[in-house]
Amino acid sequence: MKCIINGQLVLPTDVVSGMAVIFDEKIEKIVPAEGLDLSQYEVIDAEGKWVAPGLVDIHIHGYMGADTCDGDPDGIRKMSEGLAKNGVTSFCPTTMTVSVEEIEKAFNDAREVKAEGAKYGAKVVGINCEGPFINASKKGAQAEEHIKRPDAEFIKKHADIIKVYTIAPEVDGGLECIADVFADGRVVSSMGHTNATFDEANAGINAGVRHTTHLFNAQTALMHRNPGVVGAALSDENVSVELICDTFHVNPGLYKMVSKLKGDKLCLITDCMRAGGMPDGEYSLGGQPVFKTGIQCLLADGTIAGSVLDLNKGVKNFYEHSGVSLATAFAAASLNPAKAIGEDANIGSLEEGKCADIIIVDTDFNVIKTIIGGIEK
Ligand SMILES: [Zn+2]
Repeated sequence: MKCIINGQLVLPTDVVSGMAVIFDEKIEKIVPAEGLDLSQYEVIDAEGKWVAPGLVDIHIHGYMGADTCDGDPDGIRKMSEGLAKNGVTSFCPTTMTVSVEEIEKAFNDAREVKAEGAKYGAKVVGINCEGPFINASKKGAQAEEHIKRPDAEFIKKHADIIKVYTIAPEVDGGLECIADVFADGRVVSSMGHTNATFDEANAGINAGVRHTTHLFNAQTALMHRNPGVVGAALSDENVSVELICDTFHVNPGLYKMVSKLKGDKLCLITDCMRAGGMPDGEYSLGGQPVFKTGIQCLLADGTIAGSVLDLNKGVKNFYEHSGVSLATAFAAASLNPAKAIGEDANIGSLEEGKCADIIIVDTDFNVIKTIIGGIEK
């Protein structure tokens, strides 16, 4: 049994000191450190740093040169290894709008790596299937030739591995697909890459949409007479939203407003592509060339093509620009996304009985130590 002492514990709604976390594979107990007989434990001294829940990235395409759709499980393993260094302990490898064969190969690769648990680093919890059921007019960096009519059977067929998929509710067959997947109950429908009006977005929500793919990006904007997808997502309390907090995809001046409106329905994601953790230069995403310069990744025509954000830096950006508490900032990248994909009974917070996915972080949000399932990575 192991024990972390001298940390500032980041709990779901509060940061506390003077408490010890006792864990093996799972968190056994969180108790006052005073009077604890430490001789029975392998002791980890957090030296006053933050002891936070492992981060959960539910939307990430690639990292360290690898991509979910590479057609090789080693790509996902490489992501797993690299992400653990940023404090990510669970993630959803995210597919792009590529051919059905390539998408299904990525599913199989994810199944293989998921079965390996935390062998390489961050655990695969399931796939985020971003496309092909999207609207070509809001395709962003997704390849138009692979866009398909929404097909609930495809999602249900792979419901063992898909946690969430993106759909444009307004396209032909969209609402039927959403309703069918909702009735099935295993996969979350997320509206995204959508040109829906406010009414069409609300129709999607009524049919079963419960999540929003990278809020503000690749969807209809909030205008006062045409509130769009953004207006519907911000208004409905059943719908969670993803936010890319790299300060580039969304003006950081909006972080506070989104947090106030969405509360625990706000999920920080990276939408990171393979150039994450790599030097500036030319890379590819969904078969298209992408140019990375600093925090920006663009297609040749200037279209934004994913990010190169590390999730711990996303938490830092969100914390510094939103004015929320530290507990709220960490929950947005751990408990909230875990809830959005229905995994919060196992992961997402420092609570007794959950997986011992724990990170030690300094006040600049640098990750000092990542523990996954009780094992240091
Ligand atoms: Zn994406």
